[in-house]
Amino acid sequence: MGTSAKAPAPAMQVPLLDLKPQYLPLADEIQAAIAKVCASQHFILGPAVKELEAAVAAYSQCRYGVGVSSGTDALLLALMALEIGAGDAVITSPFTFFATAGTIARAGARPLFCDIDPVTFNISPAAVEAFIAAQCDERDGLLVHRASGARVRALMPVHLYGQMADMDALMKLARRYRLRVIEDAAQAIGSADAQQRRACSFGDVGCLSFFPTKNLGAFGDAGMCVTNDAALAERMDILRVHGGKPKYYHALIGGNFRIDELQAAVLNIKLRHLDEWSAGRQRNAAFYDDAFARARVKGVQTPRAMPGARHIYNQYVIRVENRDALRQHLAAAGVGTEIYYPVPLHLQQCFAYLKLGAGDFPESERAAAETLALPIFPELTEAQLQYVVDTIAAYYRQ
Ligand SMILES: *Cc1c(COP(=O)(O)O)cnc(C)c1O
Repeated sequence: MGTSAKAPAPAMQVPLLDLKPQYLPLADEIQAAIAKVCASQHFILGPAVKELEAAVAAYSQCRYGVGVSSGTDALLLALMALEIGAGDAVITSPFTFFATAGTIARAGARPLFCDIDPVTFNISPAAVEAFIAAQCDERDGLLVHRASGARVRALMPVHLYGQMADMDALMKLARRYRLRVIEDAAQAIGSADAQQRRACSFGDVGCLSFFPTKNLGAFGDAGMCVTNDAALAERMDILRVHGGKPKYYHALIGGNFRIDELQAAVLNIKLRHLDEWSAGRQRNAAFYDDAFARARVKGVQTPRAMPGARHIYNQYVIRVENRDALRQHLAAAGVGTEIYYPVPLHLQQCFAYLKLGAGDFPESERAAAETLALPIFPELTEAQLQYVVDTIAAYYRQ
């Protein structure tokens, strides 16, 4: 034993995410699928991609799937397919991963932010309604953002952490103002509302990410656009190969947004286990909810799932006092955590041209300062989960 005043080693290690226990039982099957693609040397838009597109579309209660290179490219492709660009604007949440608003700006359009509901962290339909009433005009049946003159074309709600935004209220607004709807479901594959209607089945296009940390993760980057609109599916299919149809004849300008056959082969196997993994996350969330309630930890607010809805817990996010100090305390005790997201998008330097500032979206700013994601992956043991709760309870009791 050392004699210095070194801190004792933590009693347990609880990483925020460990993908190895998910991979190991499937390793042989996945390696065989990879070997099969290698043997075929068919790497681009082959049979595994077709199979995945059909399966993920069906899983999302949609008719068509278009496999793409990432969740980010899914959002960009959806915007391009809906011809949203210069002179247009899209309403979205400032409390989300950067790609949501980043792709709106890359398409040439203006992100218009509306604040979130403090309970679900998703965009507030009331805030959208108030924003339209206060800052937009209806001119010749079009909605125009008064300050910029941009035409408001679409709503891009995000189903944050695995729980759906209030789609009934948002779709009502979309119909009233003739807005297209792109669902950012990067964190929400298979989540549903109380009527068991799934994420991606409401809007014009649903965008999924298969980034390794999502509930359905690839072995690298991949994503998908799903839709019930045949014409849009066809457009996205063409735009993902530079807009060439037939090959080398371009009526449209697209990009290289293709998903890899190798990724699709891996995802086809993993998709069969997605329900069981999401159930594991729900089980862990229920354990946390219960353990926090029993520990009566003051200063910790556990996430609220909407009654009857299917929350897939891509993240289990608590709201706490002294968040940064708690996070340090957990790190010292061997518990991994993350902040999703520390800076709301209206305060990002790259969006300074929008002339927004601190105080403009108070709920998003409060969430950015108070939220903390805890380990929630399906293979965690009850001992690990209890250790996380005990470590947090000890911090607030000291
Ligand atoms: C992960 C994520 C994206 C982007 O997906 P990538 O596959 O990483 O490009 C977009 N929006 C949200 C809300 C995300 O969580």
